[in-house]
Formats: sequence, structure tokens, C-alpha cells
Amino acid sequence: MRLPRLLGSHLSAAGGLVEAVARSQPAQCAALQVFTRNQHQWRGRPLSADEIAAWRQALRWRGWNDGRARVISHASYLINIASPSAEARSRSIRALREELERCEALGIGGAVLHPGAHLGQRPPERRQALGAAPTTDEAAGIARAIDSLDAVHAALPGVRARTLLETTVGAGTTLGGIFAHLSRIANGVREPERIGFCIDSCHVTAAGYDMSTDESAARVMEELVRVCGLARVGAVHFNDSVGACGSHRDRHAHIGEGTCGAACFRAILCAKELADVPMILETPKGGGLDGHEWDRRNLNLLRALEQPA
Ligand SMILES: [Zn+2]
Ligand SMILES: [Zn+2]
Repeated sequence: MRLPRLLGSHLSAAGGLVEAVARSQPAQCAALQVFTRNQHQWRGRPLSADEIAAWRQALRWRGWNDGRARVISHASYLINIASPSAEARSRSIRALREELERCEALGIGGAVLHPGAHLGQRPPERRQALGAAPTTDEAAGIARAIDSLDAVHAALPGVRARTLLETTVGAGTTLGGIFAHLSRIANGVREPERIGFCIDSCHVTAAGYDMSTDESAARVMEELVRVCGLARVGAVHFNDSVGACGSHRDRHAHIGEGTCGAACFRAILCAKELADVPMILETPKGGGLDGHEWDRRNLNLLRALEQPA
């Protein structure tokens, strides 16, 4: 029998990390993404032994000690491992190291990370050339990202928590708008098994990968398999896109209210290699008596697409 997909949401850890696990029940989530610390600050408070014990107890209470890895974290938005500034890079390395240490303590298997921005020359518009080779500045940013990740790994021998490089909308000088950026970074580090990928449906669409029809979605999935492989995908973000395909706009819409199209969600949901990968909503919350009405609605729409047509 096929197990249902691990569909869930990014939930607030206000009041303590265990509150995010508690909120996953009314939100009807089978998976969870959290910020293990304030995502807009550089330093996080270290976790106490009591917090770690309470977290593990909450997972047991939720029945999430069944061997399926349901929880991922999202690293701070301040981190830029591809920055040309040595100081920014060293702060980023320290912040990512601390994030992976927190994940390890909590038994979280992966931290989603944006691959960073090279801050050099903006690349040419490449909606029609997503397979294009990286520009000189992109290649330099990729090399710096590789060095940064090697430094993080060297400082954390034996840590199992992986860094999950996320696809981005490719705005400005950010890396990750084309799949090849992610694979070049992952293949360039000394310990590639410590890197995974996070596929974001909104970002992929806004970057210019059209997945709105079954045919175009199948082509993009083939490209993803060819360039990155699905075995290394450790997380999915399910967001619809406010911006059009190729707009490079990072604005998340509720499922079915954006430009991704049902075919996009279906293609990712039904990939059998992703059966045990947390699939996380990062859509607006708002409304509803308990604040979870939108999550329940969006998850229900995704579950309906999961059924064979
Ligand atoms: Zn995302
Ligand atoms: Zn986004």
C-alpha cells in the first residue's frame, strides 16, 4: 500500500519550538518546517537540554517517531555563503554551522538554505535559456558557496543534518534560478552526501520553468532529474506563484490561485522518488478562527491532486 505524501506547512514556533509541533495537529499537517531561531537575526540562543527533551517528547506525542523524517528547518535569510565579502561569508558560515548543530540536536534531518547571491553583474534575461552555462560572476559565486560549505562541513564532522539548497526565482544576482547552480555547488563540495535540494514550486515557475501543463511539467521534471537527480531532493515547498512564469517575483499565492497550475503540483506530488520527502506550504496564513484554515484548505487541494486522475 502506498503511504500518503508527507504534506505539511511552515508553522510558527512562537512560544517555543514544541508549539510548532502542537500547531501541526489543527493544521492537519503530516510534516513540518520551522525556524529553529529568529530568522532575521544573526545569532540564535543555544537550545537548552530541557527544550531538546520537550521537542522529542512532542514528536512522540504527535506519533512522529515512526521513522519517517517529517521535520525540516529553514535557515536564516541573512546567510549568504556566495558573498564576495569575506566578512559576510564568515558570518554566514558560522550561522549555517549553528543551524546544522541545532538541527542535529533536535533530530532534524535538513536545513533549507538559499544558495546566496554573488553581488556582481546581473545575468542576462534567460527565460528561454535556462540550460545556459553560468556567467563568470555566477561561477565565482558558486565557487565561494562551495568553499563556504566545505568550511561548515569541516567544522562539523559526523553531523548528519544536511544543507538543502533551495531553488530560487533567480532575481538580481541570486544563485539558484537555474537547476545547474544547485548541482554545481552540490557536486563541487568535498562531502556531496551532506548536500540535498529543496524544490519550490513558486520559485521554479517564477524563475521561468513552465510547469503549467502536463507536457511542460514533464519536461521540467526530466530536466530536474537530468541536472540534479531526485534522490538528493530532501524537501519540497508547495507555494503557488503570484508572479507570471519568468517574472522572477518571489510572492507566494494560495494553491490554485497563482500561475503554477495543477499540473505543476501534480508532477512533483506524484514523483515516486519524493514519497518520503516533506512537502511544505509557505503560503499566507491569515483568516480563520484558529489561523489554520488556509493551511487545511491548501493541503486538501494538494491531497486531491495526489489521487490518480
Ligand atoms: Zn521556499
Ligand atoms: Zn519564496
